[in-house]
Amino acid sequence: MYDLIVIGAGVCGASFAYKASKYAKVLLIEEQDYNKKIPERVNIFAEHNKPYIDDLLWKDEEAFPRPFLQLNYKSENNDGLIDYKEFGSVPIGKITHTEKFIEKLIQNAEDQGCETRFNEKISKINKHDDHVEIINSKGESYSTKLLVLATGSKGFDLQRSLGFEVPDSYMGIYLNSDVDENILDENFNFQYMFHLNPNISSDGPFFFNVGKGRISTGYLGNKETPAQLKDKLERILRNYEKIQKYVKGISWDLNNIVIGDISKHPIRKMSNDRIIVLGEAAGLVTPFFYEGMLCGLASADIASRVIEPLLSNSTDFSGVELVKYDQEINRLLLDGYFRNGNACEYLFYGNKNSMKSIWNAYTEMLLKNKTVRNFVYDVLMIQDLGKYNTDNDRWVGERLFAQLPLVSKATLWPKFLKAMSF
Ligand SMILES: Cc1cc2nc3c(=O)[nH]c(=O)nc-3n(C[C@H](O)[C@H](O)[C@H](O)COP(=O)(O)OP(=O)(O)OC[C@H]3O[C@@H](n4cnc5c(N)ncnc54)[C@H](O)[C@@H]3O)c2cc1C
Repeated sequence: MYDLIVIGAGVCGASFAYKASKYAKVLLIEEQDYNKKIPERVNIFAEHNKPYIDDLLWKDEEAFPRPFLQLNYKSENNDGLIDYKEFGSVPIGKITHTEKFIEKLIQNAEDQGCETRFNEKISKINKHDDHVEIINSKGESYSTKLLVLATGSKGFDLQRSLGFEVPDSYMGIYLNSDVDENILDENFNFQYMFHLNPNISSDGPFFFNVGKGRISTGYLGNKETPAQLKDKLERILRNYEKIQKYVKGISWDLNNIVIGDISKHPIRKMSNDRIIVLGEAAGLVTPFFYEGMLCGLASADIASRVIEPLLSNSTDFSGVELVKYDQEINRLLLDGYFRNGNACEYLFYGNKNSMKSIWNAYTEMLLKNKTVRNFVYDVLMIQDLGKYNTDNDRWVGERLFAQLPLVSKATLWPKFLKAMSF
């Protein structure tokens, strides 16, 4: 009997297994064959991720090979650049080669005694009064006192079978390519670009994540078919005028395209008797920015802290005890930081015309207004998201509305009014 079984070794499950294996007997199970390869990715880790990552690992240059120095909130008209040097001496965060980060989390967990099984899909779960039994597709079973579902957007059937809701699901595409570092340094004056254009996606950004000797690009929030997503990404990289200066000299490895679901909008209840749902499986991805990594790490940390005292008191992991996990998720993420994301999602996404005019006005404001740049910097740097200040968002919202052309003001004031109440 394990104390804890974790299904899913993405960033969230791997991080949880590492933290929990310090005090519990843990088994981590993953469907993909990590013995062969963990899928390569470049991701952005703003400084507000740091509290959830061990100091040693944060300093590991294989996992985090580049500092995150500049950010570009780009519209069709402007480059809304945030450069850390304007506000302090600490970079905005780090860029990670995610497969290395996950590999190291798993290695550290194994060093602490965590058992791992890769290339094993869990297809059935039976709940009993005093344990949970999980069964893989070969019919083999394992038992645990508490089950942790960190299955991302791929485990919705399992979730449903256990009585949990599933979050809303969108599509995302990304392409990871190796690129000569000199070309990257020449083409990019930032490490992360977040660009809104409704012709690409009216429910998410087009992005560049610039790593060390590699780059990833793609877009999120679209509901097109995989073939359409791939075709559009190829056309964007070839023809989209606004980004041609960045892609000069880069040849894309189109075999490295990944198309997948990405969920957002958290489910209402993330725990019940002997089961807890973490990360993207619970819809914990920020609504506007699609920060699944941050939420995965934060929820792993919260779960680990809630479970430790329960395990040492030999409790029965009842829903009443585990509800502390839901409460902490609310306090740390949903009651503050997610309100910013909800308001931005409501303001920017969904409508092609308003998306363009509001995003153009926002990036222009970033160019001209140091306080707005400072607020963005502060959000990326904040170490306790539970202390997130929504007053600053309202201040920015008021100035953004004031900046809109008169015609847009007339049509968009109800939208702003509602967003400001989030
Ligand atoms: C195209 C795209 C681009 C993205 N870009 C960013 C970004 O730049 N920044 C950011 O913060 N977020 C980004 N995200 C979101 C982010 O990647 C995810 O939210 C985050 O990785 C979720 O982590 P997770 O550990 O919760 O889930 P996942 O990483 O999805 O891990 C879940 C794991 O569970 C395994 N699994 C599922 N079911 C089973 C089963 N039955 N048995 C065994 N194993 C199972 C899966 O194989 C998977 O490895 C992006 C997502 C997509 C799709």
